[in-house]
Amino acid sequence: MTSHATPMSTPTPMTIGGVQRAIDAIYGERDRERGIPATIAWLTEELGELAQAVRKGTVDEQVHELGDVLAWTFSLANQLGIDAEAAVARYAEGCPRCGHVPCDC
Ligand SMILES: [Zn+2]
Repeated sequence: MTSHATPMSTPTPMTIGGVQRAIDAIYGERDRERGIPATIAWLTEELGELAQAVRKGTVDEQVHELGDVLAWTFSLANQLGIDAEAAVARYAEGCPRCGHVPCDC
């Protein structure tokens, strides 16, 4: 059994790490060939589409575009070798600056 060929027949847990690994399995090879600058360009374009959906789209369109922004964010994290769970961990105990929930800053 190889560790890099994860079968997608069982549902991937919807944890941040699980989604990051799923995005890598689905798009990782192609995205790495395209490279980080192209990934940034796609992420920025999708963010623009999300902004447009927020301004004048339906909830379904907003969900769709938010999903695309998250997918490209995970792709960027994969290419940078960043663990997305580690990246957001600093928010787990409240605001990283003041430590409060909700933020007091
Ligand atoms: Zn704060």
